[in-house]
Amino acid sequence: MTGRPDDKTTARPHDRSYWCVELHCHTRASFDSLTKPEAIVRTCREKGIDRIAITDHNTMAGIADVQALAPGLVIPAEEIKTAEGEVIGWFMTEEIPRGLPLEETIRRLRDQGAVIGVPHPLDSLRMGSALGEESLMRVIDQVDALEVLNARCLRQSDNDRALAIAKAHGKLMTAGSDAHAAREVGTAIMIMPPFHDAESFRQSLAAARIEGRLSGGYVRFHSTYAKIVKKLFGKSWDTECTEDTLRTQRGDEKAR
Ligand SMILES: [Zn+2]
Repeated sequence: MTGRPDDKTTARPHDRSYWCVELHCHTRASFDSLTKPEAIVRTCREKGIDRIAITDHNTMAGIADVQALAPGLVIPAEEIKTAEGEVIGWFMTEEIPRGLPLEETIRRLRDQGAVIGVPHPLDSLRMGSALGEESLMRVIDQVDALEVLNARCLRQSDNDRALAIAKAHGKLMTAGSDAHAAREVGTAIMIMPPFHDAESFRQSLAAARIEGRLSGGYVRFHSTYAKIVKKLFGKSWDTECTEDTLRTQRGDEKAR
């Protein structure tokens, strides 16, 4: 059986016929993240992550900086806020602006050959960004995958409902950490056969296994903190605040 969060198979990340892949991660290009490209690359190396999708909110501007440090590591992606909630495109070639009608966003993703997913589709605590059941069911035949494990969901039951819909409609299933800080990267990952483009990625997803857990509510501190810092310091935040100050403020240094 494949693509289920509860699967227990023998493939491990060190088995090179499988990759360890993070499909949902934000960088400082997102309004609610301070994560620098160096931290993304370092964390992937430390945690043995073979590929990472950079899924910044409504922008692809952060991708090149990560690619420059680690060519081949990045899946170009974007988490796009439509008029009804968010969708994710993987293997994108062109940025899509926020705020377009849901169906038009999906059509633009399809036109550029992207793989289309719905992040945290039924998160009952993120109603602005979650599509919700009504919108989801309207476009279910137009998307490739549903995110059935989003590590930032506070209620596992919301992930479970997405899983049930994905199974019922024969959709591909994904997991993602929705990491807004480097330390969150790898919380929910895919173990999947290697791929090199959108089509092979789609095929690989069909043979993938999900591993992960919920992050717990504390990780929201990272995105709330990022929003405050960016509001206070504007464009100069980068020199005023680093992940190290964030870590120190949380007392993580002591815990090491
Ligand atoms: Zn996200």
